Amino acid sequence: MRKEISLGVDFGGTRIKIALVDSKGRILHRAAVAVRRSWPRKKLFGVLVQTIENFLNTHTPSKKSLLGVGMGLPGLIDFKRGFVHRFINVRGFRNLPLASMLRRRLKLPVFIDNDVNLMTLGEATYGAARGFSQVVCMTLGTGVGGGLILNGELYRGSSLSAGEIGHVPVSRGGPLCACGHRGCFETYVGNRAIVERARQRIRAGECTIALDLVDGKVSRLTPEVLSRAAKRGDRLSLSIWKEVGEWIGIALAGVVNVYNPDRIVIGGGVSEAGSVLFRPVRESLRTHALAWPLKNFEVVPAKLGNDAGVIGASVLVRRSLP
Ligand SMILES: [Zn+2]
Repeated sequence: MRKEISLGVDFGGTRIKIALVDSKGRILHRAAVAVRRSWPRKKLFGVLVQTIENFLNTHTPSKKSLLGVGMGLPGLIDFKRGFVHRFINVRGFRNLPLASMLRRRLKLPVFIDNDVNLMTLGEATYGAARGFSQVVCMTLGTGVGGGLILNGELYRGSSLSAGEIGHVPVSRGGPLCACGHRGCFETYVGNRAIVERARQRIRAGECTIALDLVDGKVSRLTPEVLSRAAKRGDRLSLSIWKEVGEWIGIALAGVVNVYNPDRIVIGGGVSEAGSVLFRPVRESLRTHALAWPLKNFEVVPAKLGNDAGVIGASVLVRRSLP
């Protein structure tokens, strides 16, 4: 029997998501387990191994039927050496040869990479950019991440940090970013920036139905609430998404001009705002990018949602094996 199934793992700071994925990118079984960032390394590693072992015992006849395990983690990950340099917000898990540690315990081939890289691989293989070989993926949330596919292959950069779209500077002396610099793109379109725009305008006396959706509590506003309000025609919310879309278009115009991609895929919670966000993004791109690279280009919402990570991880296994 030809092996066609691999195990995809999305190892976040608070959750391990795990799925058996077939060669067509379909999820056969899935599970999720909560973890804590504060756990010591030994415990976190133990729970990771146990979760995978239990899952495989339940859902696969034998390990022999599996190609291997692919895993995405947020942070600075060396795919070639299977090494975790830095796991964002998880102190215990750094400078760790994670792939070989897992290989020894699981007795299976194991490959690890940055989570946004794997999401990009998933979307370019089975999702919104399926069939295209020049693809940029951007995730919008608390932070703004990015992944690049160049000539059909993940491009990781000289020291593995390629794709940091969130930290492209878009203004001189702008707001302070989590990275320590000022004026990064993320400080204009990250969750915090979006909500802060709304709060400022509410404080200045503007009315919005977004407040009714959170029982009048400004502290409970989120991008998701603002997108619900915008879909009901709320003026303040619509104008905030317009501003956010304009900024995204400006940053992506830079990407389009330099890189000339087939598709840019936008994922992450904020992208669920849908057309109230994508319309101004497309307008802003037309205003700011060169006309030629826009000819056969489209900016599209991600298709695989929360599954992009585990599906991309399974693609990594198939691509990495000889
Ligand atoms: Zn930054």
